[in-house]
Amino acid sequence: MSKQFDVVVIGAGPGGYVAAIRAAQLGLSTACVESESYADPKGEVRLGGTCLNVGCIPSKALLQSSELYDQANHSFVMHGISTEGVKMDVATMVRRKDNIVGQLTQGIKGLFKKNKVALLSGHGRFVGRENDLWQVEVAAKDGGTEIVEARHVIVATGSKPRHLDGIPVDNKIVCDNAGALSFDAVPKRLGVIGAGVIGLELGSVWKRLGAEVTILEALPDFLAAADQAVAKEAWKVFTRKQGLDIQLGAKIGKVTVDEMGVTIAYEAADEVHTLQCDRLIVSVGRVPNTDNLGADNVGLKIDARGRIEVDDHCQTNLPNVWAVGDVVRGPMLAHKGMEEGVMVAERIVGQAGHVNYDAIPWVMYTHPEIAWVGKTEEQLKNEGVEYRAGQIPFAANGRALGQGDTTGFVKVLACSRTDRILGVHVIGNNASELIAEAVVAVEFGASSEDLARICHAHPTLSEVMHEAALAVDKRPLHF
Ligand code: FAD
Ligand code: NAD
Repeated sequence: MSKQFDVVVIGAGPGGYVAAIRAAQLGLSTACVESESYADPKGEVRLGGTCLNVGCIPSKALLQSSELYDQANHSFVMHGISTEGVKMDVATMVRRKDNIVGQLTQGIKGLFKKNKVALLSGHGRFVGRENDLWQVEVAAKDGGTEIVEARHVIVATGSKPRHLDGIPVDNKIVCDNAGALSFDAVPKRLGVIGAGVIGLELGSVWKRLGAEVTILEALPDFLAAADQAVAKEAWKVFTRKQGLDIQLGAKIGKVTVDEMGVTIAYEAADEVHTLQCDRLIVSVGRVPNTDNLGADNVGLKIDARGRIEVDDHCQTNLPNVWAVGDVVRGPMLAHKGMEEGVMVAERIVGQAGHVNYDAIPWVMYTHPEIAWVGKTEEQLKNEGVEYRAGQIPFAANGRALGQGDTTGFVKVLACSRTDRILGVHVIGNNASELIAEAVVAVEFGASSEDLARICHAHPTLSEVMHEAALAVDKRPLHF
């Protein structure tokens, strides 16, 4: 007889493993199927999906190492610290990153054990439904298959890199995120296609370590999704100060790979150019992963963009089949997937699980960091919403000066009529941490006056958030 569970989760990325843990916490017998896409050195399945294996965590480890190297070379001197002959050993940096990944992925296995989530290694796909039970086939790499049954199935199969026609990725010379996180040496010349989050984060890593980096972006605007004041400031810092060569409006032509490296023909500003580089990163977005999921076997609806169709509560068109994370609509962010996983598990047991999609923070871990929550000024203008803005730079903040890093600003946007905070945008050191306060404010429907009346510790960067809230009412105290 097949094993039976209350819940089977397909995929052990942030959406899936969190859904599985929450379901188990709520007393449901739960299994999580993971397709062995990632393996540890012993060949055992690694949990954590894109995020832990080839995404959020390894990229942030490399960003930290490269940032320290950059500071040692360029910023220590202002503190009176001399650092001649600073060297970067790429192998050590990559090994450190791999160790962090190993520790965290192993940690998820521990969490599964602690919460009694059964781990089923193998590729999961729907095969049918009998009575109230969905049947999922689990096909292991060693050829073994088993069918498991569940009342509820949560699909959390995530996403994979979008590749471009005519540009085969070998993850040695032409890389997607997986290869770009494991270069064995700093390339002399690095090309990047796509000036989105991955292009800018990983472009920054290798630029700081000494590569000449050229980023080719199809759109005519830089960081089109961000508030344009932030995008403008970022453009200035990334291009003029840090030397990233970013070509906008680039139309990629023929790409050839030979023993000399990669040659990319592209058109920009009505001229034809050729970029010669040693390595190329293709970072042009990601596509939902529904490969061989058996969707047709059960009639699971997939939209024109390849995403599983879901309602506001991640319920699919099938009874008791749910989908969360990158495989459904919404931003492809780990924390968004995790929140959806919790929501679904809670709804399965009849609780009122909910995700507020208006309060999901975005963060880019470049230097300066960029973070925001809510609407941009451009969105408010397009929607005809009347708003007041308060914007304060880090330049006059005591903590920022002490840290020697005063780039950027905080901008608070509030409704002119109600003063409710509609958007907060930060570009600067530690924006990733500062945005948390703004997320709480948006989630609780706070006004800019609420933020302005809250006591902020001195001296901290958060005082700039405080001043920006005060500036909405044109009464900053220190600016
Ligand atoms: P995934 O993490 O993609 O996990 C899906 C899992 O399902 C995988 O383990 C896969 O092997 C498994 N699977 C797929 N199909 C099957 C099947 N049929 N059967 C069994 N298992 C299956 N987001 C952030 O919020 N912050 C960041 O800083 C950040 N940095 C990133 C950096 C990079 C370089 C990349 C590529 C992404 C980054 N992201 C970041 C995005 C983040 O990684 C994703 O949003 C997140 O991992 C999505 O989680 P998920 O659970 O939906 O899917
Ligand atoms: P992205 O959507 O952020 O950026 C892709 C960029 O490539 C866009 O600017 C797009 O205009 C450009 N592009 C598309 N086709 C092109 C072409 N043919 N030629 C040149 N440029 C082209 O995607 P990404 O950087 O690949 O990242 C994928 C996903 O991973 C993102 O959706 C993001 O949510 C997630 N991610 C998040 C973080 C973070 O939260 N810090 C970090 C990395 C990745």
